Amino acid sequence: MSHYPLFADLRNRPVLLAGAGKVAERKAESLFSAGARVRVVAETLNPQFQQWADEGKIVWLGGLFEEAMLDEVYFVIAATDNGMFNRRVFEAAERRVKLCNTVDTADLCSFIVPAVVDRGPLKIAISSGGTAPVLARKWRQIIETLIPLHTGTMARIAGKWREKVKQVLNNVEQRRYFWEKLFDGRFGIFAAQNNIEAAERELITQLNRETPFGGEVVLVGAGPGDPGLLTIHALQAIQAADTVFYDALVSDEILAMVRKDAVKISVGKRAGAHHVQQEETNRLLVEHAQKGERVVRLKGGDPFVFGRGGEEVQTLHQAGIAYRIVPGITAALGATAYAGIPLTHRDCAQSALFVTGHSKHEGNQPDWQTLALSRQTLVIYMGTLKAAEIAEKLMAYGRQPSTPVAVISNGTLPNQTVRIGRLKDLGLLAAEAERPALMVIGEVVALRNEMKWFGEGVEYFEEARSEEHTSELQSLRE
Ligand code: SAH
Repeated sequence: MSHYPLFADLRNRPVLLAGAGKVAERKAESLFSAGARVRVVAETLNPQFQQWADEGKIVWLGGLFEEAMLDEVYFVIAATDNGMFNRRVFEAAERRVKLCNTVDTADLCSFIVPAVVDRGPLKIAISSGGTAPVLARKWRQIIETLIPLHTGTMARIAGKWREKVKQVLNNVEQRRYFWEKLFDGRFGIFAAQNNIEAAERELITQLNRETPFGGEVVLVGAGPGDPGLLTIHALQAIQAADTVFYDALVSDEILAMVRKDAVKISVGKRAGAHHVQQEETNRLLVEHAQKGERVVRLKGGDPFVFGRGGEEVQTLHQAGIAYRIVPGITAALGATAYAGIPLTHRDCAQSALFVTGHSKHEGNQPDWQTLALSRQTLVIYMGTLKAAEIAEKLMAYGRQPSTPVAVISNGTLPNQTVRIGRLKDLGLLAAEAERPALMVIGEVVALRNEMKWFGEGVEYFEEARSEEHTSELQSLRE
């Protein structure tokens, strides 16, 4: 069996719905959103239908189904829980040459209702021809993640301007090129920003000029490593990119998800050993966007957390390049969650501080007094080289030498390792740890005993295994 797909315009057109229970309710709702006039045949109305009847949203024809009711409607949906009744409706519809859909009964359907990905005027309908609705729904979910949420906004604006564009560009080829470039470029960014006015301005600008379209830069947070932690926006951006500039921190698994024919350029840097200077990266982003490319700047974790994303955006802003920012899961959130360490806990940490162990100006001394406060979790990025020094300072300012600490390497990745110890041993723990590594200091670290769930081969530092330490951790928790 093969169905003929069509989209019906039901605005102000009457349709018949048999049934007024839960299932019929869902059908009624989708009919309302298409603007149909719904007539209901059912012995009793459930409270929702009763309310609709009172509001005049439906017309209730009573409980007695008559074939003549079909003459006044475009089609009928049989949605009662009475199989015999549904069959009667279907057979009557066949005699009267009216389309009929019967819920959950493929052989009583002359039409079926597809699963729909809905982006305003843009709709994608998926059907398994009545063989496997669950499969159709599963594909709907997958497609749902692939179609940007702002596609509906783009379609609405395009609908409004379609005639005008036709008048200005009178050949089909030209128009196709125009729309393609428009949707891919700054117009798309403005639509994503929900800045309709700017999107329309961009449309008018492009319509009135001969020169090529401008490019864009999307600053994307790739998360700490596990590709499952990419956001939907991030995935869509890396799959649409012409050029991707990525950091050393971006995992291979994530790079594998970048569009196959995109150009991938490493601008990786590690503290102390800059491969490409930041100024050079800034310059490259601007240069590629000016050529009209869709550029993605892919950064580990979140672009605005110790990622120099701020500096890049300032450059783009100054150069007048359109940009968008996709936040990512920062290491402090991702690595601790995968290590089974809650950042806050009512019993032992009311706040969490994210700090860097590496600053632009050596003279910028942190506020040790604040960092050393107890009942707070301290998360240190880029700190392993200075771990011993940091521990000394914290202890000097009053944090207990026995405070539990963790050094998490390759957080969220299959090769994640977690080293547990005490603050006084932080230097040793960090020296052993593979990078990238995140240091976590605070009582919450002890909770890992009950909360670890991810990764094999977790290593405990010698010290941590000692009787004394175990009982100390125990007492901390009590
Ligand atoms: N913007 C990034 C941080 C960049 S600074 C973010 O939001 O996560 C680089 C530091 O992040 C590393 O030195 C390390 O301390 C930490 N880091 C990043 N990814 C990590 C991971 N998968 N596991 C442990 N630490 C990580």
